[in-house]
Amino acid sequence: FSVAAPQVRGKSAQDNIFAANNRAVALADKIGKDKVINGTVGSILDEDGNLVELEVVKEAYARLTPRQIIAYAPIQGYEKFLESCIDQCFGESRPDGYINACATPGGTGALHHAIHNYSADGDEVLITDWHWGAYDSLIDYPNRKVASFQFLTEDGHFHVDAFREKVEDILSRQKNIVIILNGVANNPTGYCMSVEEWQAVVDVLKHTVEGKDKNAVLIPDVAYLDYSGEKQECRRFFKVFGGLPKNILTIVAYTLSKGFTLYGQRQGAMIGITSDADVAKEFVDINQYASRATWSNCNSAAQNVMIDICSDSAKVARLDAERNKCFKLIGERAAIFMEEAKDAGVKFVPYISGFFITIPLEGAQKVCDCLEKDNVFLVPMKKGIRLAVCSVSKAKMKGLAAKLAAAIEAAGA
Ligand code: PLP
Repeated sequence: FSVAAPQVRGKSAQDNIFAANNRAVALADKIGKDKVINGTVGSILDEDGNLVELEVVKEAYARLTPRQIIAYAPIQGYEKFLESCIDQCFGESRPDGYINACATPGGTGALHHAIHNYSADGDEVLITDWHWGAYDSLIDYPNRKVASFQFLTEDGHFHVDAFREKVEDILSRQKNIVIILNGVANNPTGYCMSVEEWQAVVDVLKHTVEGKDKNAVLIPDVAYLDYSGEKQECRRFFKVFGGLPKNILTIVAYTLSKGFTLYGQRQGAMIGITSDADVAKEFVDINQYASRATWSNCNSAAQNVMIDICSDSAKVARLDAERNKCFKLIGERAAIFMEEAKDAGVKFVPYISGFFITIPLEGAQKVCDCLEKDNVFLVPMKKGIRLAVCSVSKAKMKGLAAKLAAAIEAAGA
């Protein structure tokens, strides 16, 4: 018996990441945390398995007045918050053009609005084959269709030919193409696109839509930006989004979830970059309207925390230093795994930085089932297994590749 409206009947979110995490936590409670390896969690945990809370962020929260916490924020977001997001996002690589931002609940909110407001009912939305699972629901829920292309070539670079082919194909049928590219410390692979690869993306779009009655909306999803490399160096690619034709709009999905360790505070922003004044105004108008019609205002406390930190360069320096420690720690953990994986003959997708490493294989579920018998919890995906290097300590990382090799053998994968 169902009372649901026809368009949502039968839908359900079966999140295998949270399911595996729940099993890991339950087992750790029973036999002890030290005996369980939980590589499912997409948050930074320290070497003792505790959630990392950046000190400078914690201190800013302690300074908030009740009013800063409870008052409604403007629907678009506090002006200073939006300026801080733009500043923190681009650093020294602010692209040329009109730049506007709207507050959203995390990067998810930015993706939601971009899909809703720039693709039409039934349109295909383009993503990479390796992608964060939530993209599928974000695209499916408003009745759009997932279209994907091969992210990486056999020798481990951005597959620009596969991208071009899909863009041209989709635009032969649609007026607008929305593309989500999580090309910075990609979830789940850890691949980072180079400035040249981002430039190639932009060149394909220019070539396909310039002077035509078609629009391209490119969404760089930069959720893991702050852990993707040296602060200014890893932001250089933003420059390629400046000075584009007016029918190419870039919307950066920016979030405080990881960069400020504020996962549960649900705060982020969508940042529009365009060379056209009308498109810039429309960006604010339609997205603010959509906010009013969905979640209304965003979280005042998180916005005020960001304002507090970003209005003081000493605090920003501390923030950078704290993040840098996490970045280094994650890199050390990843290095242990990759070195041992090479010795154990376990393949992985080229990892550069970020929270996850992917082991590409068929039969991921079977392998993960075998690993769970050994108290190791990883995330099975369609085309491989995801290991959260952000949450497994260096001590636990040692020997993990060998366990994986044994499980792959036992599962016949
Ligand atoms: N994009 C990617 C690839 C992610 O992995 C995540 C979080 O896991 C997000 C965006 C956005 O998360 P949030 O909505 O918490 O900012």
